[in-house]
Amino acid sequence: MLAELGRVTDEPGRLTRTFLSPAMQRANALVGGWMAEAGLRVRVDSIGNLIGRLEANAAPAKTLLLGSHLDTVRDAGKFDGALGVLLPIMVLAELRRRGVKLPFAVEVLGFSEEEGVRFASAYLGSEGYTGRLQPGTLNLRDAKGVSVGDALRKFNGGKFSPPKSAHAGRDLLGYIEVHIEQGPVLGKENLAVGVVSAIAGQSRFKLTWTGRAGHAGTTPMPLRRDALAGAAEFVLAVEKLARGKSGLVATIGELSVSPGAANVIPGEVGHTLEVRHARDPVRHSALVRLGRLAAQIASRRGLQVNWRRTQEHAAVACSPVLTAALDHSVRTAQGRSLALVSGAGHDAVVLSRLTSSAMLFVRCRDGLSHHPREQVAPADLAVALEVIKDFLLRLAAAPSP
Ligand SMILES: [Zn+2]
Repeated sequence: MLAELGRVTDEPGRLTRTFLSPAMQRANALVGGWMAEAGLRVRVDSIGNLIGRLEANAAPAKTLLLGSHLDTVRDAGKFDGALGVLLPIMVLAELRRRGVKLPFAVEVLGFSEEEGVRFASAYLGSEGYTGRLQPGTLNLRDAKGVSVGDALRKFNGGKFSPPKSAHAGRDLLGYIEVHIEQGPVLGKENLAVGVVSAIAGQSRFKLTWTGRAGHAGTTPMPLRRDALAGAAEFVLAVEKLARGKSGLVATIGELSVSPGAANVIPGEVGHTLEVRHARDPVRHSALVRLGRLAAQIASRRGLQVNWRRTQEHAAVACSPVLTAALDHSVRTAQGRSLALVSGAGHDAVVLSRLTSSAMLFVRCRDGLSHHPREQVAPADLAVALEVIKDFLLRLAAAPSP
């Protein structure tokens, strides 16, 4: 199923599926067919999310949500997102073959947008599903100048307004997302799966260092105000600070130098700064410390440094109850469990605002993802299947789920 879905693409020769694209519609048809075979009632909502619902054996009952995203980055691997949609379908198909009936309803969700490729804005699918799509988002435009609103109007045959949440929080048991780890920790621990304890919060900034451009041959070293030398000192200070604090990651991933010539002293340098940690206070105090360091470097070198915040997401703690239940199932399936922090954002970030959420990470080869060589061993997929099956059966057996 993963291989077949991995061939559904908008670009010949490589896997790319973006929001509302022809390949996304073919993916919905393919996966929707598998959902129907597993006994689910299938629909696509006005945001392009694929939803397969299995009713409880007796009404009234709450609903458990299981899912992930069906869109991909450009030149993607076939596991990121897809695994969290297909694996629950496999589990429900098996329970159906065995004649197991669940006392709660299950909805399997294939979100239409998580990667932020087409409109440089992530989570459109889960925001739509949870009634959190902001009206301003509809004005974002893709590379061809098509707005989110126009794309959604075309998709819905002419009319579109942001939908209400598919569920009230009180009608839900929670949301479980299975996802590849996209990191090296499970591999290092030699474990197939682990349970996510929190999704790291993150802050992004644009920094600008201003000095004075000048002739590289005639300006003596003591008289220079070199913006790049100051920024370079800061880059190493950021690395040192993050290395000294467990779980803290900080990255300067983009940098531009101007005027930008071999014989001109850099007068201005702009760069990004991104900082993540599972606990917001740790991230905040790191940022205060970095602010002081930048100011010290600037003052010592006669530079000016300006900070502009471009993004801020609080950390998301996973539900202790669901996480403990998943943990139990992981120990049953592989003998030992491991709590992991997710450094990357996931649909669970958005779903956690509606309902209790938890995540299961599955080991991927060399921690490689967002890459065509992304790979998960079949034996690890089998462990993940066992965990989700055990989790559902345990929840079904609980006195009042
Ligand atoms: Zn993903």
